Amino acid sequence: MTDASAALYEARDEAYPNEGVGIVTVDCIVYPLINQARSATRFVVNEKLVHEAQQELIGQGHIPVTFYHTHPASPPSPSARDELWLQEHPNQVMMIVGKTGIAGWVHTDRLHSLGKISKG
Ligand SMILES: [Zn+2]
Repeated sequence: MTDASAALYEARDEAYPNEGVGIVTVDCIVYPLINQARSATRFVVNEKLVHEAQQELIGQGHIPVTFYHTHPASPPSPSARDELWLQEHPNQVMMIVGKTGIAGWVHTDRLHSLGKISKG
């Protein structure tokens, strides 16, 4: 089974000390995007560059399915800003690569954890 976790930790470390953000494909390709905020506590991505990256991946035969962002100095738990985004985008999965592991989150009727892989 292919596992994206090693590539996600690598992307987190390459973006350090800032937050990293990027795309993950069905076949576990991790495609980092530029965090235009250049911040350790938030990220901003250009929609046009996101679209271009997705088209590039599709052109190479990959299927982009989700995004990740990193928390370089904190656990993979949603920040206040992340929780607001999740509330505003019900049923959308958020993947966070934190200092201590990788976790998925979704807001349906309330915030739910989709599980966590602790960094071993
Ligand atoms: Zn976050």
